[in-house]
Amino acid sequence: MKSKFLIFALISFVAVGSTFCQDKANNKKYEITKSESEWKQILSPEAYNVLREKGTEYAFTGKFNHFKEKGIFVCAACGKELFDSKTKYDSKSGWPSFYQPIDKAAVDVEVDKSAGMVREEVVCSRCGGHLGHVFSDGPKPTGLRYCINSVSLDFKKE
Ligand code: FE
Repeated sequence: MKSKFLIFALISFVAVGSTFCQDKANNKKYEITKSESEWKQILSPEAYNVLREKGTEYAFTGKFNHFKEKGIFVCAACGKELFDSKTKYDSKSGWPSFYQPIDKAAVDVEVDKSAGMVREEVVCSRCGGHLGHVFSDGPKPTGLRYCINSVSLDFKKE
């Protein structure tokens, strides 16, 4: 009887523990954190809506959609280097698209169940700012399409 209780207690402990860890992963502490009023002072209303409220700019309207200069795209909120122009391609989606981030640690990918869809959200790994989504219909070599809002990016010329 006692051993049954111990097994039950152990299973409960593991279950609660793993739930706790998942919650922790979803509430990552970012290197750069600011209050919403501080972000509003730094960002334009359009950038605030996308980066902090997970909005989406209208297709074919962003400044980087047809942009072809060579250099590095950085986070418009914190300046972290996110994408190299060498990995940008024309997905014809209406948003700037890249087949990979500048390095694996530059962005975080989180499950997004909003708008009646299950998508993978892409956020800046330093400030948590919303960048866009990643889809699996991209070109070689990764087969991925990082579909990014122009307003979430700034550009550093090569
Ligand atoms: Fe950032």
